[in-house]
Amino acid sequence: MSKLDENIFKLNKFLDRFRVSGIQNHIAGRDVPGSQGTFQSTSPVDKSVICDVAHGAEVDIDTAAKAAHDVFTEWRDMPAIERRNIMIRIAEGIEARAEEITLCECWDTGQAYKFMSKAALRGAENFRYFADQVVQARDGQHLKSPTLMNITTRVPIGPVGVITPWNTPFMLSTWKIAPALAAGCTVVHKPAEASPLTARLLVEIAEEAGLPPSVLNTVNGFGEGAGKALCEHPRIKAIAFVGESRTGSLITKQGADTLKRNHLELGGKNPVIVFDDADLDRALDAVIFMIYSINGERCTSSSRLLIQDTIREEFETCLVKRVNNIRVGHPLDPATEIGPLVSEEYFNKVTSYFDIAKEDGATIAAGGQVIGDEGYFVRPTLFTGANNGMRIAQEEIFGPVLTSIPFSTEEEALQIANDTLYGLTGYVWTNDLTRALRFTDKLEAGMIWVNSENVRHLPTPFGGVKASGIGRDGGDWSFEFYMEQKHIGFATGQHKITKLGAL
Ligand code: NAD
Repeated sequence: MSKLDENIFKLNKFLDRFRVSGIQNHIAGRDVPGSQGTFQSTSPVDKSVICDVAHGAEVDIDTAAKAAHDVFTEWRDMPAIERRNIMIRIAEGIEARAEEITLCECWDTGQAYKFMSKAALRGAENFRYFADQVVQARDGQHLKSPTLMNITTRVPIGPVGVITPWNTPFMLSTWKIAPALAAGCTVVHKPAEASPLTARLLVEIAEEAGLPPSVLNTVNGFGEGAGKALCEHPRIKAIAFVGESRTGSLITKQGADTLKRNHLELGGKNPVIVFDDADLDRALDAVIFMIYSINGERCTSSSRLLIQDTIREEFETCLVKRVNNIRVGHPLDPATEIGPLVSEEYFNKVTSYFDIAKEDGATIAAGGQVIGDEGYFVRPTLFTGANNGMRIAQEEIFGPVLTSIPFSTEEEALQIANDTLYGLTGYVWTNDLTRALRFTDKLEAGMIWVNSENVRHLPTPFGGVKASGIGRDGGDWSFEFYMEQKHIGFATGQHKITKLGAL
């Protein structure tokens, strides 16, 4: 049996129970149907129905938010070491079921096994990392003044809403939910409608690991129904959101009446800038990896290549050869590098840029084609001869599509790099140290890597500027979002209190 056949066989075993009973919402430790009936989840591999999914809306969110509210003080006040131990057991549970998570994620989203097997384990790492922070999460400062002993402490903000997208949904959900639980918050999770499978696995694993019922609740549904209701719910104190920039703006508006705190991780049109003094072999590997891995459906993808004109021709020639060699195929085949795009909607969106590129006057140097009509497969695509004013250089395509733009000077490269609404990541390739320092200082992005692809290190801040987001994840920055600072002043003596109304 080939590895692909073996994976398909295992997947079918994992999916059997979903085919029989669908995916229910999970509220207060129980599986419950959605108030609006069900919707269907389909696979982008062959457009087949995977299963029915509970369709939740306002009333389901209300029940979940109340459950998260009712258990909040119990979870908050549980000794930190006990919460830590539960989180470690969740990490172990994820590791034990990593294969199931990986196969379901690939089938649900079209992402290649090659990358998703690592993403499942990164989910476990997120729980382990934040489990280790639980004990000191509440620690504060001691700020003595002449008359008072002032101390600060951090307390969890309360029940929070977590709204996640369909790209690497398991990993992204753990990235939000793990620090929220570590902080002592309870959670209502609204997963993306296009990828509900692994959110179900996560809540199941968490409760099997000893997470008390109601601490994590999952309500499936659509953005304008369940998502909106979560943002508007008065019991929910904050929304951790990952998704498109225009949805981020809606999240802010919807939460205004209840004064929500929002953390927004949004879109990007990230530049990778390659100077002619760079290690071009390594730069080529990184440029390809950062746009064509994970189907190009990653917020941190380097979708704009800014290439110095002195090396443009040679670099683009090598790029075309490599892009044409990328293996597109069944996501469960471990050799596959690109699987199908997540849904018909995204397939239509991505492929519409093939015409837009031509209308703009750019050249399709590689790809620009769809593959078959069984699923949502496209060839990895490279546009050359582009300038930064074109739509293919300004709009987030969110697929395996790279736009190459030439520049001649460092000043011009900086001007092009910053000429975008977005500011999530930037990648700079140069062996000139002072140029790297100068350039990164002026580059408008929340995260920059020099002579490297994106290598995530959990203690570092993750997030964007401009239309790419507000707020940071990672390390203690996550706790700044999920917790409130509290100041308490203790009088150390009999300092003078101004008397009013005294004779
Ligand atoms: P999306 O904004 O369409 O949906 C994300 C989630 O928001 C889904 O669960 C959806 O149901 C929900 N939603 C939609 N409308 C809503 C509303 N009015 N109120 C509340 N919730 C609502 O995004 P998507 O298409 O699922 O994901 C792709 C986008 O996510 C891309 O733009 C990508 O760049 C971005 N992303 C950003 C990061 C980051 O860290 N910056 C990471 C991954 C993805």
